Amino acid sequence: MRYQLRCLSCGAVFSSSNKTQTCPKCGGLLEVEYKGKINFTLSSVSGFWDLEPLMPNGMYRHYEVGFTKLIESRESKDLLLKLEFENPTRSFKDRGSVIEVAKAKEYGYDEIVCASTGNMAYSISYFAKLFGLRAAVFISKGANKDKLFDIRSTHDAELHLINGDFTKAQQEAADYAQRRNVFLAGDYCYRKEGQSTIGFELFSQNDEIENIIMPIGNGTLFSAVYKAYSRLVAMHIAKRVPRLIGVQASSSAPIVHAKGGVIKYERPRTLADAIAVGYPTYGNQVLKAVKETKGLLLTVTDKEMIAWQRRFYQAYGIQVELAAVASLAAYAKIKSKLKGKTAALITGANL
Ligand SMILES: [Zn+2]
Repeated sequence: MRYQLRCLSCGAVFSSSNKTQTCPKCGGLLEVEYKGKINFTLSSVSGFWDLEPLMPNGMYRHYEVGFTKLIESRESKDLLLKLEFENPTRSFKDRGSVIEVAKAKEYGYDEIVCASTGNMAYSISYFAKLFGLRAAVFISKGANKDKLFDIRSTHDAELHLINGDFTKAQQEAADYAQRRNVFLAGDYCYRKEGQSTIGFELFSQNDEIENIIMPIGNGTLFSAVYKAYSRLVAMHIAKRVPRLIGVQASSSAPIVHAKGGVIKYERPRTLADAIAVGYPTYGNQVLKAVKETKGLLLTVTDKEMIAWQRRFYQAYGIQVELAAVASLAAYAKIKSKLKGKTAALITGANL
């Protein structure tokens, strides 16, 4: 056994053969804890699957995911852009989905379910089809119609349109998983491990990055990047974790608005659907990572993201989604306070 699962709420420990991603005792979030010495050198990394020694083992080594480009921006030579729309379904979600769907298959499930604001359902249903699993997705009625069409027609997923936001969809997906004995995917431990590959890749592409700016929806990506760098530091590969800077939409910012470490539900109203989350699952981990890295949390308005979406298209010729340029809108606001190289994650381009 290469890892175990620990509950972040009650501390209970489970073996890697535990088939659920939430605690069987209390329903809390489980976290993957690696055991023993890991045989890994960064110089051997030239693709996503070279990172496998750092990941929960599985049978998923087939598909091309990750290892997206890190390019110098047109704005400044100190600003680097990680182009996550190069993933198969055009968002960083694929890194987590490929691991989750493979885990579902490894555990013998024939169906997988998730709640989504759009991109995760798109990504999960894509990989479920590749791995030969059925997929059910719970998604708000107000979601992007083109994404819905592809999820149903191209990826053959069963679509459950619900009246309500992402938090409601999450509850309904969890109920469905329990009722039907289906693997519950989403912003849980295996997705987090898959998404942590962004951190490993960033370090392997440029070991001088001092700041990383990321949009925050559920906070999984943010806490995953923190975990990746922390592991590299523990393995004496990286010297320190960069300053982690999180961006939320001003009309959907429960983490930025947290007081005394307490996050309260906020009804999301932003047009940036990929980060429209009212109560982020990994909110507490985000607050911890910001504190530990002397990072920063800030908001950007929909208007600012729309302007940056246009600027990005003009500069690079690529149409990305609103959440993807949240990091650029944030950089423009705080660049005078940043020292050294900054990496901004351009998270997706599903339109
Ligand atoms: Zn527990």
